[in-house]
Amino acid sequence: MIRIKNQEEIEILRENALLVSRTLAEVGKHIAPGVVTMELDKIAETFIRDNGAQPGFLGYGGFPYSLCLSVNDVVVHGFPSDYRLKEGDIISVDCGTLYKGYYGDSAYTFPVGEVSPEVSQLLKVTKESLYRGIEKAVAGNRIGDIGYAIQSYTEGFGYSVVREMVGHGIGRDMHEHPEVPNYGKPGCGKKLIPGMTICIEPMINLGARQIYLHDNGWAVSTIDKAPSAHYELTVAITKEKADVLSTFKFIEEK
Ligand code: MG
Ligand code: MG
Repeated sequence: MIRIKNQEEIEILRENALLVSRTLAEVGKHIAPGVVTMELDKIAETFIRDNGAQPGFLGYGGFPYSLCLSVNDVVVHGFPSDYRLKEGDIISVDCGTLYKGYYGDSAYTFPVGEVSPEVSQLLKVTKESLYRGIEKAVAGNRIGDIGYAIQSYTEGFGYSVVREMVGHGIGRDMHEHPEVPNYGKPGCGKKLIPGMTICIEPMINLGARQIYLHDNGWAVSTIDKAPSAHYELTVAITKEKADVLSTFKFIEEK
């Protein structure tokens, strides 16, 4: 069942979305060569709690941290650890909040210092594919229109789209219906209607699309060890263009 939100609920989701957005910016300020990823998790947890919310991921389905931190070939759900970031790495920071009974969920892949031109383009194209997906997130369109926009754009650069993990509805649960795949066919899938709130989150690999699950039961990496990028924003569907609840502006205005 797809839960349609009223404007009051959308405003609470916006509060969550903006807190997640500001948390990502706070974490981003500390990303640099030499930083241990566990420190980033502490920064996020403190920032979220200082703002009167709870980390949305901590304990969710048994997940043991406040952030998913996925370095290089890790696609998503990486654990914060004693790994020390180094120049040329990329790190996807996926963050959730729980506030007033609703969830926030957003992700951004940061370069660590200077990255190769090849990797820099992967980040740029993946983020652009998210915006292209958002452009299609309009009432009357279908879920497949979003996926098609993301897939056709990224595959045009020779990249591949992860299939096993997808975007999702969001509300009182972090993961609600419908699923929002980053691939698809125009005109196919569930119809978008006003009041739907969805997270769009392309996970795009530089190499092959195949992935494997780590022994910890969470982290997922590319089979070929090539890097993977991940960006996520939450939107509310309206009759006109999507109401984008979260934002990367706090990260990028520095
Ligand atoms: Mg997320
Ligand atoms: Mg998500």
